[in-house]
Amino acid sequence: MYASNTFARTEVQALNGYNAGLSIEAVQERHGVLRVAKLGSNENPLGISPKALAALTAEAHQAALYPNQSCGILRNALAHKLAIDGKNLVFGNGSEDLLSIICRVFLDHGDQVVTILPSFGLHIIYPQAAGAEVIGVPMGSDMRVDVQALMAAMTPRTRLLMFSSPSNPVGSALNSAELQYVIDNLPPHTLLVFDEAYFEYANGEADYPDCLEMLQKSQCHYIVLRTFSKAYALAGLRIGYGITSDPALAELIDRLRTPFNVNRCAQAAATAALADNEHLIASIQHVRSERSRINKVLQQDLGLQPIPSLANFIFFSSPLAVDSVNLSLLQQGVITKPWAEAGYRQFLRVSIGSCEDNNLFLQALENALHQ
Ligand SMILES: *Cc1c(COP(=O)(O)O)cnc(C)c1O
Repeated sequence: MYASNTFARTEVQALNGYNAGLSIEAVQERHGVLRVAKLGSNENPLGISPKALAALTAEAHQAALYPNQSCGILRNALAHKLAIDGKNLVFGNGSEDLLSIICRVFLDHGDQVVTILPSFGLHIIYPQAAGAEVIGVPMGSDMRVDVQALMAAMTPRTRLLMFSSPSNPVGSALNSAELQYVIDNLPPHTLLVFDEAYFEYANGEADYPDCLEMLQKSQCHYIVLRTFSKAYALAGLRIGYGITSDPALAELIDRLRTPFNVNRCAQAAATAALADNEHLIASIQHVRSERSRINKVLQQDLGLQPIPSLANFIFFSSPLAVDSVNLSLLQQGVITKPWAEAGYRQFLRVSIGSCEDNNLFLQALENALHQ
């Protein structure tokens, strides 16, 4: 017998699948609950902007036609908003798609990728799939990126430095001194992939620098990744983008993307969402006020120590075995993300949801901790 596994490339045989979290239907079915709070995937509880929905619906009439290959209208709108040349932009079917393309374009067997721990799963899976070795640098004891340790991990073989800030799952972010340290110590042969999926939530917070501006002023080769999935509330449409330091990097990425990787409804909805500042601001304000309310309950009523977050989720260590807490939460209809990564398995990540879902979570967690 020839085992199916052996058909796959060696790297793929050894790979772990992405831990995508549970769906509402799966939890309803498995645990017999009707009301489910889906707080495991950092989605926007305000839902799609009404303007984006109108654009999406209008565009759907053209579904028989291939989409614009280069996201032309959206490219122009973003270039204008970011005050950059549109040639520096790349688009993906979610920023996940761009992470995958970047790893296939820039990584070869024997290359190294440095990232932070705890990590966003795809920052490890895609480099490994491309045959690269991943070096994970644990955060400091304060759960902030240890930039000294991070930059000390650079070797002549480090092709990519790839991590998220604000970090998913922790929520902490580099401040301007820390980002400057990274910039000053980035080897010239290393491309910085700076995943800013939670940019809109962090932007404007006291300690959060204008990372793009700092990178633009530097000599670094970089790709800043952003997405319409989080604050712009379009996760189900799959659209993200990257800002490159050089049009030549964008051109390389375009070589390996599928030619029509962003569908026309996503392009239309993203263009409208980008113009709907009111919905964006409402989304950000909701997250800020609910995040501080939840933090207070976790600290004062439940005696927990949630890690300060600049994003739309909170990472906290469970005083009881995570498996039993998670099971109890699921039985009460609450989906969170128990962190399945060595060294961080005592943590849960919970997204900031609607006020009702957050209340359901807080009550369920209290029940789970006092069962
Ligand atoms: C959510 C997330 C992404 C993926 O975003 P999509 O655009 O939906 O693919 C990328 N990076 C990080 C760190 C994320 O948390």
